[in-house]
Amino acid sequence: MRLIFLGPPGSGKGTQARLVGEKLGLPQISTGDILREAIARKTDLGEKAKSVMDAGELVPDEVVLPLAEKRIRESDCMNGFILDGFPRTLAQAIGLEEVLQRQGCVIDAVMFIEVNDAVVVERLSKRRVCPKCKAMYNLASDPPKQEGVCDRCQVVLELRTDDKPETVEARLVVYRKNTLPLVEFYKSRGILRRVAGEGDIRTVFDSILGELSEVKSG
Ligand code: AMP
Repeated sequence: MRLIFLGPPGSGKGTQARLVGEKLGLPQISTGDILREAIARKTDLGEKAKSVMDAGELVPDEVVLPLAEKRIRESDCMNGFILDGFPRTLAQAIGLEEVLQRQGCVIDAVMFIEVNDAVVVERLSKRRVCPKCKAMYNLASDPPKQEGVCDRCQVVLELRTDDKPETVEARLVVYRKNTLPLVEFYKSRGILRRVAGEGDIRTVFDSILGELSEVKSG
């Protein structure tokens, strides 16, 4: 099954993509994670992407599309994958269709996880990430056992630089302008499914599984 998880920053698409991926045995492809890894390794790509990401802007399509294509072509993606945070622009969506067309496959469903802006701002201000294993916590709804420390690695948790309130506002503006038009795009393809994203992790997960039970894999 080939899926896209679409939604604003803080909608929980990364968390849900990981859970659904584990349940269905599908790799989760996060372009955000690929870019953060490049930044951590101080590669040329990382150097270029850092300032753009810190400002809450989008990394250019001509940089992101080849990254996603390379990952999709890897052998563990042959039977399907979950795209998390990609595509984020119409150009990326069209580029993705072309990549998949060359492989003779299509996207089976797009899960659009809907969450209002106030919830986004609240969630991201409370999000903490383990710099080592990338596990995510929410200080209110899903806190670590020991305050400020990853349960698994015992490493001090961090606030992502782009989760600062002023950057979150910028990301929401970018989301509305560049990414929201994808809802109509995938609706017109007949593969868009809406999921209410404001419940707890388990509730949203169950809604997604309910939607997926109706999806036929191409
Ligand atoms: P995420 O981890 O998905 O929230 O992404 C974090 C940041 O990485 C975004 O705010 C963008 O700056 C960049 N990024 C991730 N995916 C993309 C994409 N598909 N297109 C452009 N920029 C991206």
